Amino acid sequence: MQTILKGYILRLYPTDKQKELINKTIGCTRFVYNHFLSDRINDYKRAGKSKSCYDQIKKLPGLCKEYPWLSEVDSCSLRSALFSLDDAYKRFYSKQNGFPRFKNKDIGNSYKTNNIKNTYKDKSYESIKVDFKNKIIALPKLKEVKFRGYRNKTSFIGNIKSAVIRRKANKYYVSVLVEEPLILPEFIPRSIVGLDLGIKDIIITSFNEKIENSLASLEVKKRIKGLQKGLSRCKPSSKNRYKIKLKIQRAYMKLKNIRKHLIHDVTNKLVKENDIIVMENLNIRGMYQLHSMAKSLTNIPLSEIKRVLEYKCNWQNKKLLTINRFYPSSQTCSVCGYQNKKVKDLSIRSWECPKCGVLHDRDVNASINIMFEGLKMYVNSL
Ligand SMILES: [Zn+2]
Repeated sequence: MQTILKGYILRLYPTDKQKELINKTIGCTRFVYNHFLSDRINDYKRAGKSKSCYDQIKKLPGLCKEYPWLSEVDSCSLRSALFSLDDAYKRFYSKQNGFPRFKNKDIGNSYKTNNIKNTYKDKSYESIKVDFKNKIIALPKLKEVKFRGYRNKTSFIGNIKSAVIRRKANKYYVSVLVEEPLILPEFIPRSIVGLDLGIKDIIITSFNEKIENSLASLEVKKRIKGLQKGLSRCKPSSKNRYKIKLKIQRAYMKLKNIRKHLIHDVTNKLVKENDIIVMENLNIRGMYQLHSMAKSLTNIPLSEIKRVLEYKCNWQNKKLLTINRFYPSSQTCSVCGYQNKKVKDLSIRSWECPKCGVLHDRDVNASINIMFEGLKMYVNSL
């Protein structure tokens, strides 16, 4: 059976003792990560190559003997730190990322643990268990932690693979990874939509719908700016400075949440209402847009919209088609096909077709053209 991995984020409400243990575990995994990163670097300097992840795992018990406090936390989390170090190296070798960095208090406020299954005297046992009825999650070493989230869920369908426990602005979260069976509905092409991605309106559909960038995120951005001004006026390492820093962290989290909700709302609706979704290939145009958008106050990464659309389409057996970005979607009249080179200028928001006289909204016209290109592509593939 085909399966998919889904992540569920729950807000944790640990007791003071549990908080202490979470913080300690985060500290220990950070220590292990940094220790073995410098180990790898030193090995490389000495011998021109470094140990494999598995060789390093073999050295872990020795390290725990040397630093006994490492044995007080979930041992699985320490191994996971080594796997994530290995991943960081792999991403470096495949040029996806830069060289692995040492973790400090600003990066690396989380740890991962795997769900370990055992059977003992005919009783099966799992190291991670979620009880939705009583709102309690069992985690290694921490035992039962209260949580909130997914009010309508009664259980996970499928197997829990792992959990990442995270501290963000003094709040605690767990992200539970679940392997779920994938049951695909039959693909029936009934509705097709073209999307033009923009800056002010993040998505313009060929049904003439414009999804505006949320104003709430603008307000939060303004607030962050104000707080940062306050921060620069504070004395270093003062109590006030710490408070403002925390406020900034929380505001950033809020901003992230607003964006996340916006992206999910929009993509849910698109995938629910359409069977084929067409958008432009983002590679270069997307990069250019990201670049210019980084300067603007409201930047929702377009690549993130694509990523979310991609997996939602996969889960629901819908088609996401990407058309060539060189196709002049903005300049072509969606009614008669006339190509109007003057529209290249991005400041032109609406134009009248010199050939057929139809008045076009720049973005809606582009999204209709994108839809037609996608339709051609789909029909040709049959
Ligand atoms: Zn025309």
